[in-house]
Parts: sequence; structure tokens; C-alpha cells
Amino acid sequence: MSQLVYITTEPTQTHLETKTNPIWIHPHLIESTDPIKGRQFRVSAPIPKNTVLLVDRPYSIIPVVDNPTDNDDLICSNPACNRRAPRNTRKTCPNTCLGDVAWCGSVCRGKDSLRHGFECGWLKRYAVSIRSKYGEYDFGMLWIIVRLLASRHCQRLDLDSGLELDPGLKCNGWRGIESLCGSQETWPCDMVKSWTGFVKRYLLDGPLLPHGMSAEQVLHVICQEEANSFGLYPRETGRFPVPWPVVGRGVQYAGAVYPTASMANHSCWPNVVHKADENGHMVFTACRDIFPGEECCISYFDLAEYTDLTSRRERLRELFRFVCRCERCVDEEPEEVSEWIDMGGFMS
Ligand SMILES: [Zn+2]
Ligand SMILES: [Zn+2]
Ligand SMILES: [Zn+2]
Repeated sequence: MSQLVYITTEPTQTHLETKTNPIWIHPHLIESTDPIKGRQFRVSAPIPKNTVLLVDRPYSIIPVVDNPTDNDDLICSNPACNRRAPRNTRKTCPNTCLGDVAWCGSVCRGKDSLRHGFECGWLKRYAVSIRSKYGEYDFGMLWIIVRLLASRHCQRLDLDSGLELDPGLKCNGWRGIESLCGSQETWPCDMVKSWTGFVKRYLLDGPLLPHGMSAEQVLHVICQEEANSFGLYPRETGRFPVPWPVVGRGVQYAGAVYPTASMANHSCWPNVVHKADENGHMVFTACRDIFPGEECCISYFDLAEYTDLTSRRERLRELFRFVCRCERCVDEEPEEVSEWIDMGGFMS
């Protein structure tokens, strides 16, 4: 296998900062468009191993707790902070909307009042019933959507009224969310049907959620979120070959949508590892030397957990609806399978 990727078409390049608002982008990390893969990251100059390439802030982030009665891993809800909120010092909502909503202290709670005000009534009214009816996954998905809409709401208020918001709330990333991949065509009909029901039942409550979007627009945001959300784990994702002794990335403690980091495509032999820092910012780091023109890829799952070709492909098909043709997968696949995929197998 060669580390060099030869570009056959001249990629179109744009400046990332015009669409999104990440905290840091390496000057040699560029956005380009591939005729098959769509948007992607490439590097315009050699990047040495261990170089930090991107630090992106979440547009929406929620805590994920395996056991909701043991909420030790809650994160501070203030977007300017998002660090872990220890049980003994954290503050909760005076309106007792949901036990998973916490702040690391009263200062963060005060600064987050406008954004939390958008979700508070909705959480109080629907969180318990959605959780008991549909389970943790669907509740988490709907909450992350409500927090996306809350960030957009704050951004609009900021622009419209000239309100002096806390700098952490100045989320200029909605344009980045709009340009995420994912649409109704990405997902099976039964999933889209179920999300359509959720939108009607829970996300069009005008007085509770004054977002002003149509059912179709909110459904589109769900289709994008499901194709682009990240899990946050205590350890990095994507180092390959997997170090020995094998240590997985740990138990997920949060889920988030990152407008810029979402542009990264998947490879089962990635050149970039990713991990969130202590403030929930997604950090991309080169895990080997990267050559000019090479695409920067991350792994969408834990490579220590899914090791063989079949399990990796099944995981990606299930979660992201595509067949991986990275150089590792192509190298490992038997010839007949390769021909079958070229003829359209897997896609039906
Ligand atoms: Zn805080
Ligand atoms: Zn509340
Ligand atoms: Zn692969």
C-alpha cells in the first residue's frame, strides 16, 4: 500500500473560515471537492506526524449517560465551557427540566440562560415521555436537534438585535450546518418515516420552540445530523495499526455536531486521529506524515473494536449507509467481492 494519493482531477478549494467558525485550522488544511466523495479535507503542503490540524467547536453537544441515574459524566451546558461538571459542585436547572442538564457552576449557568431558555420548556414537557416511549437513542437525537436549533436561535438574536452575547454563544456556524451532507435520500424510508413522525409530534411546537422552520426543513436537519454527529470518548479514535496491548476508546460521554470537523471522510487506515479536548472541542491530529495533495481521513468507529473487513463494512453500512473503498478495505477484499461491488452489490 502506498501512502501517496494521486489527484486525477483538480480539486476546487475554498476557505473554510467563510462557512464555519472553528477555533483553529492549520494553514495547510484545505477544503476540496471530490467528484465521488463530495466535500473533503486535503493538505496543500507536507504535514509531519503529530501536527494538530483542526480544533472545532461543537454547534450542538449533549451528555450521553449509560445509566441516567449515575450522571457522573455530565458536561457543563454553557457552550463557552462544556467541561466536565463534577457532581459535588455542579449546578442544575432551577426549573428542574431534566437531571442531565448541568453547569460547572453558577457563573456558567447565568451565561447560558438565553440558550438554555430555548430548550428548558421543551425538555420539561417531553424528555421523560420520549425517553420512556422511544429509548435513549431517539431521545438523544431529538435533544441534539433541539440544541442545534437553540444555537441557531441565539445566533439569529445576536445578528438581529445586536444583543451583547457571551463570546462563547457567538456561533457563526449555521452555514456550516446547512452545508453538511445527508438528505432524505440518504436514509431508508422507514427511518425517514419515523423521523417525520418525531418532527410533527415534538419539534413543531411553536410556543415552546420558536425556530420558524417548516417540518421539511427540520426533517432535513435530522437527516444531516444523523450522517454527521460525533461521539465523544475518553481516548482517541483512529490509530492504526492498533497499538498493543489493545485499549479501546472507552465509554461515550457526549454526542455532538461539529460544522467543520464533519467534512472529514472515513478511512479504515486513517492519517488523522480525533479526540475531544476538555472543553468538548474536536481535535484532529496527524498520526503519520501526510503528503501534499493527500486526503485527510478519520475513522468513524473504533478500529480496535471492528478489525476484519466484514465487520468494518457492516458497521459503516449500518451507521453511515456507504461501502468503504479505502485502500485497506480494497487491499483486504477477495477479488470476486470487489467485482460484485463494482457492479452495484451492497447498494440495494
Ligand atoms: Zn462551565
Ligand atoms: Zn431547564
Ligand atoms: Zn475501509
